[in-house]
Amino acid sequence: VSQSRYSHQSPNPQKKTVLQLELDILQKNQLLAERNRGFFEARNILALNFVSSPGAGKTSLLERTLRDLKTEFPISVIEGDQQTMNDANRIAETGAPVVQINTGKGCHLDAEMIAHALKKLNPIPNSIVAIENVGNLVCPALFDLGEHRRVVIISVPEGDDKPIKYPDMFHSAHLCIINKIDLLPYVTFNVEKAKQYALQVNHHLEFIELSATSGQGLSAWYQWLRNQSIA
Ligand code: MG
Ligand code: ZN
Repeated sequence: VSQSRYSHQSPNPQKKTVLQLELDILQKNQLLAERNRGFFEARNILALNFVSSPGAGKTSLLERTLRDLKTEFPISVIEGDQQTMNDANRIAETGAPVVQINTGKGCHLDAEMIAHALKKLNPIPNSIVAIENVGNLVCPALFDLGEHRRVVIISVPEGDDKPIKYPDMFHSAHLCIINKIDLLPYVTFNVEKAKQYALQVNHHLEFIELSATSGQGLSAWYQWLRNQSIA
């Protein structure tokens, strides 16, 4: 007779230490995030944290938004990527102020990185700061950057079950943008199913369907931006 003995093992003391370390990191991050939020509020700045998988279209949506709303809102950008200045260069082309953070092996931005970037960026009062996080739907969910709104982007070439595969991210977001809807005729993505999955993990979540390339749905996104306040 063979019987599993796993249930009789004592807890791994090393694992406990790793967990404590993670808690310390998140607690420190939370304090710094509150400081960033204070910075934004003192200048009446709306801060947005854009999160998605790589390639969902964060940079393209920002580029388009910066061009279209240039005369309406001053928007500056903090770009997070593991390597390269490519996205920051694309943003700079629009004329918007931008600071690039390269995280190297790091797979998310944290509040301390944002605090440093804000010193360089020095965003003007009564403006918007858009933060493009590293393309990753896992740990950016855990790191508050001091933003007022978290915007998660999924694109229709991805699976419509992303919201239940990465529930923490969808749980912590305020708005879900479904991007690249011009590609719907060529993919199997079911918009209603994706929304239902997302609402299972966050029943307050709002949705906007758009294509940053074709321009379809952008007016709803711009209206959403106009409706936000930092309060
Ligand atoms: Mg990008
Ligand atoms: Zn990470």
